[in-house]
Formats: sequence, structure tokens, C-alpha cells
Amino acid sequence: MSDDKHEETSRDTLEILEKHREAGKVLQEIKQLLGDLVKPGVRCIDICEKVEAAIIERGARPAFPCNISINNVAAHYTSPVGDTLTIKDGDVVKVDFGAHIDGYIADTAVTFCFNPDLLSLKEAADEALKSALKLIAPGVETNTVGGEIEKIIKEYGFRPVRELSGHLLSQYVLHGGKVIPNISLPHGAKIEEGEVYAVETFASTGSGSVSEAPYAYIFSIQPVLAPIRLREARRIVRFVEGEYKTLPFAERWLAKQFSRGRLRLALRELASKGILRQYKVLSDRKGSYVAQAEETVIVSDDGCEVIT
Ligand code: MN
Ligand code: MN
Repeated sequence: MSDDKHEETSRDTLEILEKHREAGKVLQEIKQLLGDLVKPGVRCIDICEKVEAAIIERGARPAFPCNISINNVAAHYTSPVGDTLTIKDGDVVKVDFGAHIDGYIADTAVTFCFNPDLLSLKEAADEALKSALKLIAPGVETNTVGGEIEKIIKEYGFRPVRELSGHLLSQYVLHGGKVIPNISLPHGAKIEEGEVYAVETFASTGSGSVSEAPYAYIFSIQPVLAPIRLREARRIVRFVEGEYKTLPFAERWLAKQFSRGRLRLALRELASKGILRQYKVLSDRKGSYVAQAEETVIVSDDGCEVIT
């Protein structure tokens, strides 16, 4: 009986990994389209909407809003409703997007560099990621991988971003318990076979440290039990729990269901009660540039399989 149970478990595990792979395949296909989509003169909102629609067209769901972070903005920017932000010549543009099948996520990011003087910044992030992926195997400590990422980025003459990390992926949870840092840390956790990680590297010409803007366009609902006063706020929680569960969503995604003024008020109430998590826009210092690279991997018995 215990043997049957064991087989059952491994069959479940295989099915789960297959869903991650399916989500990864969707992202691979969309990556092929990005070159034509991401160009100077194009509005960010058009890229966000096209990437998210392409995920849905392929039978998956966005695991979070498409992030387009430009120049010193490192992460967490997605277009708000009516956004006019447009890509310009000279920009360093990170497109970070994810898909899930039944909550099993794949997460990837690509940097487009429209500044010929900063090609080595993109290369630093890409090469650091490549080296990190070569290291990942069962038994390896996450901080060892972080040390390698830091080493490569510094060899290029840039700084790794200390606050941003790769992360474990689990069902409907984008940032699982373990992290893979961009820097060497005194302690880490052991990487284990069968785990699914988003490994991501950030190279910066700035301080290598990001700070939060006072605003957010990406949110998630946390399972906090607190009485909600506004009817609209209760409706939002029900809608989000049905559509996105615990995954991040864009204010833009709610705009079709809820009127803007009421939406803002309702989000404010949910934030004040700790029900709404806000992913504030993260930036390095003004005038600096950040490049990012990210792939999702399944840890195998002797290394890892890149699924994006
Ligand atoms: Mn990502
Ligand atoms: Mn990620």
C-alpha cells in the first residue's frame, strides 16, 4: 500500500512539473514575438496587453501582470489604465512576464537595450544568469549561486541589485520560501531535486540598491481576516480570489469590472487593513540603468532543466 501511495505521489509530481513545462513553453513562444513588439516609439501599455493576451490565447493565464521596467526602474512597473509611457531610443527595457497552468508558474524576463553604450550591462545580467544555471543542482546552497551572480556582474564593472532575488515557485505562490540572491550571503538553503525556481539576475550602473516608489500598479490579496466596510472592496476581494487567487494582479485588470474612483477607494481600504499587498515600483538611483535576465528551471537529479 505504501508503494502504491509512493507511485501516486510521483505521478502527481510529474503532472505538476508537466504543467510548469507547459507554462514555460507558452513563454518561449511569446519570447520569439517580443523582438517585433518592443521598440522605440511603442507604448508600454500595448506591450503589456499584447503579452498578456498572447498568454491567454495559448491556453495559459498570466501569473502576474506583464512588467515593463525602463532604465533605473528595476521591477514592478506595469502600465496603469490610460498609460502613455512610450519606449524611447537609448532606453534599457526589461520585459518580465509569467504564465501559469492551474497555478503552476513559469516566469521569465528579457532585457532590450536601445543604448549601444550599455550592451555590456545586458551581457552582464545574461552571463550571470548562465553561470547561475550551470551551478544549480540538488545539494547546492542558494547563497553559493548568489555569490557566483555577484562575481560575474562585478567582473563586468557593474553592481548586482541586492534586494532582488530569484525565488521558488509553488502552486499559486509566485515567491515561495527559498530565494536565490544576486549577492553572496553568509547563509543559504539547500536546493532540492524537483523544486521549481525562477532564477533572475539584475546588473546596475547605479548603487545596486533599489528603493520603493510611493505608488504601486500591481497588487495581490492576502488571506487576512478583517471586516471590510466598503461593498466595492468586498466585491474586489471576491473577484480577485475567483480570478487570480493569491497571484498578483494589475489595477488595469480590474478597470473593466469596477469604476475607477470607487476602485481607488476600495483598494485604499484593503491596503489599510493589510488585505491588499502592494508591489511598489522599485528603482535604483536617478540616471542609472538596470538590466535583468530570468529563466525558470526544474531542479533535476544532477543539474537543472530550463523550461522557459
Ligand atoms: Mn519575473
Ligand atoms: Mn521572478
